[in-house]
Amino acid sequence: MNKPGKLVVISGPAGSGKGTVIKELFDLNEYKYSVSATTRLPRPGETDGLDYYFISKEEFLNKISNGEMLEYVEYPGNYYGTLRKPVEEMLKKQYNVILEIEVEGALNIKEKFPEAIMIFITPPTYSELEKRLRNRGTETEESISKRLERAKKEIYCIEQYDYLVINETDLQKQAAFNINFIVESELKEQKSGENIINQEKAERFLQNYFNN
Ligand code: 5GP
Repeated sequence: MNKPGKLVVISGPAGSGKGTVIKELFDLNEYKYSVSATTRLPRPGETDGLDYYFISKEEFLNKISNGEMLEYVEYPGNYYGTLRKPVEEMLKKQYNVILEIEVEGALNIKEKFPEAIMIFITPPTYSELEKRLRNRGTETEESISKRLERAKKEIYCIEQYDYLVINETDLQKQAAFNINFIVESELKEQKSGENIINQEKAERFLQNYFNN
């Protein structure tokens, strides 16, 4: 039987620029994107069915009870979740599937799919993250504060990922290249050494992250 595709889980705090990096990634290889469902309202420029399936809380809760969600999370006031069926179908067709999800959901996916490639993407420092989030201008002050609080907690989970990719300012293409290299290496059952995260690297990274 043919091997299924790989699940590539990409997490990163709000403001990490992961959306832009993922767009660049699609220029590098034929990936499929898992479109999540959410109860949050669309931002200007977002399209239903492309960025997210924007659904009501009632529909979301129904999908949970019908077993249609592979994982889901309540994230500052809204629900977000990965739809089971499209992901399973894409993997069966041997596509490599990108899940762009936050940490709690990502760790649930890792339990269900131990083979998943777990990648965390972040700006080099917390102050840079804050700057990017504010410059984006899409969020209220309340939402920004909640997202920053969450980001502080999420960064301490990097050790549970396989790879850490730093999204340096204005170098999104490089970050996408690194992610593509990680996936291509994994497909050859190799590791991309530079980005592997372990306890020692995580500790060093965290010290620098909050002190600069
Ligand atoms: P945003 O509102 O900025 O689009 O997304 C907020 C957070 O939800 C981001 O960290 C994003 O990665 C995460 N997210 C988006 N879709 C899903 C999903 O299906 N499951 C989980 N667990 N998180 C998601």
